Amino acid sequence: MYGIALDLGTSGFRAQLIDLEKKETLKTVITMGHPLPGGNVMDHLDFAITTGEDVAHEVIIETIRRMFLRFDVDLSRVERLAVCGNPIQLSLFQNTEIRDLAYAGENKQKMLGVRNVKRDARVFPASEIFGENDLPNCEIIVPPAIKHEIGADALAMMLETDFLIQPEPSLVTDYGTNAEMALKIGDRIITASAAAGPAIEGQGISSGMLASPGAICDVKPEGQYWRIIVLDREMEKQNAYLIDPVTGEIKESYGFEAVGITGTGVISAFALALRSGMIEKFPKLPNGKLILGPGIEITEKDVEEAGKAIGAIRAAHMTLIVESGIKYEDLEYAYMSGASGAYVDAEDARRLGAAPGYAKKIVQFGNTSLALARELVLEESRLDDVIAIAKKITADHLMMATSETFNNFYLCELSYWTQGMPLETYDQMLELYGLPPLPKTLEHVNIEKRVVKDIEEVGSGGLSILKEIGIILEVPVEKCVYCKKCVKECPETALEIVEIDGHRIAKYDSQKCLGTSCRRCVSVCPEDAIDITKLKITAK
Ligand code: SF4
Ligand code: SF4
Repeated sequence: MYGIALDLGTSGFRAQLIDLEKKETLKTVITMGHPLPGGNVMDHLDFAITTGEDVAHEVIIETIRRMFLRFDVDLSRVERLAVCGNPIQLSLFQNTEIRDLAYAGENKQKMLGVRNVKRDARVFPASEIFGENDLPNCEIIVPPAIKHEIGADALAMMLETDFLIQPEPSLVTDYGTNAEMALKIGDRIITASAAAGPAIEGQGISSGMLASPGAICDVKPEGQYWRIIVLDREMEKQNAYLIDPVTGEIKESYGFEAVGITGTGVISAFALALRSGMIEKFPKLPNGKLILGPGIEITEKDVEEAGKAIGAIRAAHMTLIVESGIKYEDLEYAYMSGASGAYVDAEDARRLGAAPGYAKKIVQFGNTSLALARELVLEESRLDDVIAIAKKITADHLMMATSETFNNFYLCELSYWTQGMPLETYDQMLELYGLPPLPKTLEHVNIEKRVVKDIEEVGSGGLSILKEIGIILEVPVEKCVYCKKCVKECPETALEIVEIDGHRIAKYDSQKCLGTSCRRCVSVCPEDAIDITKLKITAK
C-alpha cells in the first residue's frame, strides 16, 4: 500500500509517493509554480475571496490530481495522504473558511460577520475532497495550526529543526515567498511572517526559476571567473562552467547546462559581486547586468526585486529581536529551512543580510513542511504527538503589517537596495527612528548543513516536474468587440479571447496569470467586458 506526503507551498506544490511497507520514497512530483493566479499568498487569498473559494479549491484539487497521475500507480492503493502548508493553502485545500485570514482587524471581522476559525488537526476520508473515484481507500491527515495566525507550516519548521528543544535564544526561518519565522527565548516564542515576495525563490526576476534541475543555485570565484553551480536531475549541486560575469565569456564546462537562476543563486551572485568590488552600491551593476550563462542575466531591476525580498526578511528578523527585548548579540542559533534555506551558501546569506549575521551558529535544513507530512504518512501515531506538542506551544504572533518598527526597518532596506543608500546613512536613519544601529556581522560563525538538498530523497522513480499545470479559467465576455487589447497588454501571455458558437470567452492560464497584483487586462478593456469574479475552471 502507498502513502502520499504533500506540501502545499506558496510558490509550488511537492508530493512524494511512499511505499508504506518498505517505508521508502518511490517518486517525487513537483510543480514549478502555484496553480492559482498571483505571486504570493495574499494574491491567492484575494482570488479566492473575489472569484470564489469553490473555484480556488477546485483549481488546487485539480492540480493535485494531475500531480498524482504522474505517480503512475493504482491510486486505490493509497491509504494515507498527509498535507502540510500555511493556513491559507490548507483552508483552500479543504474548502473551509478563509475570510478570517484576510480580515485581521476585529472591527472589520465583526462588520462582515467573520470569526476566527480554529484550525485543528483533521483526519477525514479523501472522498470528501476528491469524490468517490480518485482515492477511494485513502484518509487525509492535516496537522494542526498552533493558533489562528500560526499555521501547520510554522509548526513543521519548529518541529523539524532543533528550535523547540533549544534552550538558548534562537531564530528559525522558513525561506519562501512568505517567509515564516519564529524567535525563541527560553520558553517564550514569538512568530512572524515576512511577505518577501517570489524573488526569494527565483520567481519574478528576468532569468529566475524555482529550485529545480538546471537552476543556478550558487556561484564561486575562481580567479577572474565565476564557477556556476547548478542543480542536477537529483536536485544535487553540480559544477557547471566558468564564466566571466561582465563579458559573458565561458571558459570551461563540465557538461551541466544552466537554464535559469534560483533565489539562492541570486544571493550568491550579489554576495560575490559585493566582495569582489563589482558592486559598490545597489542596484548598480557593471554595464547594467551580471551575465551568468547564455541568455541568463541579472539586471538592475532584478537587484531591486531580490533586494526587496532580502530586505523584508532582514527587516523582519531585526524587528523580532528588537520587539522581544533581547540584543542582537544575544542570538545564539539561526535555523534555516525551505529550498532557499537548504541550497543557499549560508556565509553569503549572512553577508547579505538574508540570514542574521549576528547569530553565532547557523544550521541549515530542507523542506520542513514536506518532512512533517512524510512523518505523518509513515507513522500513524505521530499525529497525536504533533497535536500534543502544538498544544504545549504558547506563542505570540507579531504582525509585521502593522508594526511601526518593521515599517521603519523596511524603509531603510528599500533605500539601501533600490537607491544605494550607504550603511552609515542607514544607521543615521535608525537613530532617528529610535532604533538600535545595524547589528555587526560576526567574522566567524559555526555553519552546519544538515541536508544536501531540500527534498532529501526523491525516490527510485526520480523527480517528475509538472511544469505547466494547464488549468484554464474562463469567463464569457459578452460585450467584447474583439479588439485584443487585453491580450496584447498581458505581460505573461496568460490570456486569450476565443469565439465559440458566436459567444466570446476570455480564457486565462491560471498558473501564468499574475492575478490581483496585475489586472491589466481588465483595466485596458474599452468595453469593461471582463468580470473576473465570474471565472470558472475548464480543462485545456
Ligand atoms: S494581464 Fe490579466 S491575464 Fe495577464 S497576467 Fe495580468 S491579470 Fe493575468
Ligand atoms: S480588451 Fe475587452 S473588448 Fe478587447 S478583446 Fe479584450 S475583452 Fe474584448
